[in-house]
Amino acid sequence: MSEDQGAALGEELARRLSDAVDAGFDEQIEFLQELVRRPSVRGQEHLAQDLMFQAMRQRGYEMDRWRVDPKDIEHHPGFSPVAVDYAHAWNVVGTHRPRNETGRSLILNGHIDVVPTGPVEMWADPPFAATIKGDWMYGRGAGDMKAGVVANMFALDALRRCGLQPAATVHMETVCEEESTGNGALATLVRGYKADAALISEPSGGRMTRATMGVQWFQIKVRGHPVHVAHAGTGSNAIQAAMDLVAPLRAVEDKWNARRHETKHYADRDHPVNMNVGKIAGGDWASSVPSWCTMDCRISIYPGFKPQEMQRDIEDAVRKAASGHPFLSNNPPEVVWNGFFTEGYDLEPGSDVEIVLSRCHERVSGKKPVDYIATAYIDSRVFVLYADMPCMVYGPICEDAHGFDERVNIPSIREATKAIALFIADWCGVEPVGG
Ligand SMILES: [Zn+2]
Repeated sequence: MSEDQGAALGEELARRLSDAVDAGFDEQIEFLQELVRRPSVRGQEHLAQDLMFQAMRQRGYEMDRWRVDPKDIEHHPGFSPVAVDYAHAWNVVGTHRPRNETGRSLILNGHIDVVPTGPVEMWADPPFAATIKGDWMYGRGAGDMKAGVVANMFALDALRRCGLQPAATVHMETVCEEESTGNGALATLVRGYKADAALISEPSGGRMTRATMGVQWFQIKVRGHPVHVAHAGTGSNAIQAAMDLVAPLRAVEDKWNARRHETKHYADRDHPVNMNVGKIAGGDWASSVPSWCTMDCRISIYPGFKPQEMQRDIEDAVRKAASGHPFLSNNPPEVVWNGFFTEGYDLEPGSDVEIVLSRCHERVSGKKPVDYIATAYIDSRVFVLYADMPCMVYGPICEDAHGFDERVNIPSIREATKAIALFIADWCGVEPVGG
């Protein structure tokens, strides 16, 4: 086990940083509202990225902004297939360079993209209004994860407010595509951004993320000849045939859940592998037998397994189910891998960066952090699997991420920002601003 060689931050500096976060906190919350009000669903990330670019440039960081081009990253083993236009898939990186590089370098990462709102009438308030009620800010992306993105920037501001800056290079990254492929974070790596450690301020609720799953997206396409409804027997239409594939897909999910005992961190989880039929479309007319149906699905796989293993299981299950089916045996369904195609990872405990972040969290909250075992995808896999960088995933409390009335707890934003500010100072060391 390695030991952190650096000395912990002095009491005095820790208190000054904490006060500095308090001093900037109203401004931080206003900025977060402004960012939430720029809806950055997939394909529309650019306006939110413009705001981040401007805010970082105003602060004097060295700026880099580029459109993710699948051609630049498709050779990489961490690449996920792309089925949409990347016209607005922008990444932004602001870099702080110290006068004297004496400390350990750092990447502060967060994703700018958010998932769709669903029917807006299901929300108590408009999803991009960033309404504050009591201790909570409501809005799509407020918690997942614009609060974290903003916390990274204001944590660095807190150092400046104390007349200090990191004594090491810090890359502040806001990336696209986290909710669909992970190609945004991957593109930063391929572009050359690396550091001694990374921190992603996803809403972990103050916990340390110990493991994440790999996620895969696939689309099942069923096609067949339409006939008039008067001549159709049961089970011979594309929509019903697609429905018949759900049970065999569930069987794959069951099989993988039964294997959870083979894993380090998922053995105690009830149902770590979730197969989700997320979107379904098909047919054209109430009185025509549907000739087509498309089902968009998501499944996940444990750390240590390749997405190709899941791909094989899914394709086998679909092929077997189709072979004995009255409609599908004549019209074999196609499986298209059109998004996430990622691996998970286990984070070894006891790294230097974890020791430093743990003590900063404890100092701010008075509690030792507990482990968080994620069943979803997190961009941290890019750094851990492909750059051999330790990556912490740590941030505020969010409820109903991806659901209605998504909200982030405001006191937890304050606490996470303080912990991140202390962490930056502790990990990178500090030097006076200017001079
Ligand atoms: Zn997220």
